[in-house]
Amino acid sequence: MGRVTRRRIVVEGLVQGVGFRPFVYREAMSLGLVGRVRNDGSGVIIDVEGEAGVVRDFVHHIGTRAPANASITMMRVETAPARRYPTFSITDSDPGTASTALVSADVATCDACVRELCDPRDRRFRYPFLNCTSCGPRFTIQQELPYDRHGTTMSAFAMCGACAAEYADPVDRRFHAQPIACGECGPQLSMCAPDGSVREVGDAALMGAVAAIRGGNIVAVKGLGGYHLACDATAGVAVARLRARKGRDAKPFAVLVRDVVAAERFCRIGVDERALLESPARPIVLLRVREAGTGVQIAADVAPGNRWLGVMLPYTPLHHLLTQEISHPIVLTSGNRAAEPIVTTDQDAVEKLGGIADVLLMHNRRITIGCDDSVMRIQSGAPSFIRRSRGFAPLPVSLPRALLTPALAVGGMLKNTFCLARGTQAFLSPHIGDLENPTTYGTLQQGIEHYIRLFGAEPRVIAHDMHPDYLSTRVAHALECDTRIAVQHHHAHVAGCVAEHSVDAPVLGVAFDGAGLGDDGAIWGGEFLLVDNGGYERVGHLSYVPLPGGDAAARHPLRMAASHLMSAYGSELSGSPVECGAWFSDTEWRLLRGMIGGGVLSPPTSSAGRLFDAVAALSGASRASRFEGEAAARLECMVDPGERGAYPFDVQHVNGCAVADCSSLIRAVAQDAAGGVGANIISARFHNALCVMIVSVAVSVRQQTGVHHVALTGGVFQNAHLVERAAASLRSQGFTVLLHRQVPCNDGGLSYGQIAVTAAHLEHC
Ligand code: ZN
Ligand code: ZN
Ligand code: FE
Repeated sequence: MGRVTRRRIVVEGLVQGVGFRPFVYREAMSLGLVGRVRNDGSGVIIDVEGEAGVVRDFVHHIGTRAPANASITMMRVETAPARRYPTFSITDSDPGTASTALVSADVATCDACVRELCDPRDRRFRYPFLNCTSCGPRFTIQQELPYDRHGTTMSAFAMCGACAAEYADPVDRRFHAQPIACGECGPQLSMCAPDGSVREVGDAALMGAVAAIRGGNIVAVKGLGGYHLACDATAGVAVARLRARKGRDAKPFAVLVRDVVAAERFCRIGVDERALLESPARPIVLLRVREAGTGVQIAADVAPGNRWLGVMLPYTPLHHLLTQEISHPIVLTSGNRAAEPIVTTDQDAVEKLGGIADVLLMHNRRITIGCDDSVMRIQSGAPSFIRRSRGFAPLPVSLPRALLTPALAVGGMLKNTFCLARGTQAFLSPHIGDLENPTTYGTLQQGIEHYIRLFGAEPRVIAHDMHPDYLSTRVAHALECDTRIAVQHHHAHVAGCVAEHSVDAPVLGVAFDGAGLGDDGAIWGGEFLLVDNGGYERVGHLSYVPLPGGDAAARHPLRMAASHLMSAYGSELSGSPVECGAWFSDTEWRLLRGMIGGGVLSPPTSSAGRLFDAVAALSGASRASRFEGEAAARLECMVDPGERGAYPFDVQHVNGCAVADCSSLIRAVAQDAAGGVGANIISARFHNALCVMIVSVAVSVRQQTGVHHVALTGGVFQNAHLVERAAASLRSQGFTVLLHRQVPCNDGGLSYGQIAVTAAHLEHC
């Protein structure tokens, strides 16, 4: 052996919880090098000694052969005096150093583990918590950095001899797998009655839950990031009972199926959708329901009135076992009471789900943070988020420019997420939920505390929505910091989309959503904002109409229909189709007219979401919304893609601002509806009208400013038909279109946008 060289290699990025140290160990052993490798708060530190040329090869391999789930953001190689290590070893982590390492998201059970799960000769046959170095729980069991067993909730379980041997064996695929476990030493299932009393344990508990689901009962199942409520998706009675017991929640349920073949029986699945379904993050993927199912019929109550169905494949060993035993698709929906966050503790499960579920399937591994399933769809040929949560949180989304100091953004009110950021990394939280009650408020506060501890980043700047009454704004004011920044809602939407694409030029943002407070005190939601350098100029918007009853109008499409009719025809509506009593009873009409005409609790709004509601109600597509956006979603489902007609939109330029007047559009909708034109045609003409209007405003802004980037953002653009048509029309006119790819276009992505605005602000002051 020639002269011994020593190198100290510091590797940062996603290098903990992904089998990085075992990989380093194997590389060193295969090259005959000595030294050690350990995790620390910032990543992995390797000390290696050997002949210079071999050490060089080793360094090269570290950079090029890293495990699939790892991602290296920085690698620094330093020289050091030789220490003559006797061998190569993995040593314990260094506690107490500042933590800047990335935390891995949870990873779906890998193929090798699934094979063991199904192999009667394997010692982990049917063990519902098996995992390995490349799969299993991560974020939802991690309490602190570095990622070591004692820093996870698996510290409660002492490894048995067999597991300890695998853990210590460098050639074993469970070498240093922190959540390693088996039936002898790891977590166990228990089946409980709704009062929490244990009825069965182990495999008998699993089979008890299986029998309950097969028998049409509702079972609360403790999963990775919280409890789910499960029942047979083909049993109409069971699904209806689940809906009734869950309370006013009318949102579509997702279903769990064994594999893609099973899903294909009732959904159409493209190549991209299949890849997304089978990806290690295993999100819920929205798929088109087959018109006539071949055998399997999903109960109508699973996703009422929807042509899209959320489908997911098993991502834990427990889900694999359930789907192997139950051949029908299983409803798997978040275990919570209406409007509350997902239940994560066994005590809450008994208290809150005991009244909904007939049986509880529990286990004794603690969940550190609630993490709902992510929801995605293929849009314009690429995956896009409706909810970014399990499998993605807490992986960072990058920021185009580094923050000068750690910052926190608390998000909006609906579909809340928060975002802790440092440098160029924005760590988005899992889905928190709608901040409508003290429980969600508490979950938001606890989540923020957890992130600050986990990432060791104390935010000195906190961004929040301009709305003073949002619970998130109150959380922001309760936290200690140097600076608070109030960010206009739609500005945040656009800034987020721009930051995702790292565009360093002015962008025209089309922000269409339900509601956000504007800087003139009105409720905005149909906005054209010219965004540049942390600021914005409102260059266009939908015309204002009264929002009867404020936020409550989101659940009453008829109110919006009345409001738009009165704005289009005047309050007496002479000459309008309403005179024939097309939509309202006399009493309803008198009531609404009083409410809107009197201006009581009816602030002006430019909301595009509420315009969808009005058109949905007038066309007959939907007269009721049990949750924000339901009527709009139905109108989207109705659309006849072959219809080419478009309703008129008068765009008037007032003081340099393009105001798209909805009056002529509403009159045309009302006439069509009164004349018996079908909702599918009305829906298509309405969608087409919006596309034409968007392009015409964008063209006029480009003429004045030269801006040719257009961002489509806000919850309304979850509408696949609208976003695809609008993007295509804009592209055909030479615009560069920006769509959200890494965060949702809805309010789930708002915190990221608030951070983007904050980053620009900090640079300016
Ligand atoms: Zn595995
Ligand atoms: Zn064991
Ligand atoms: Fe919004």
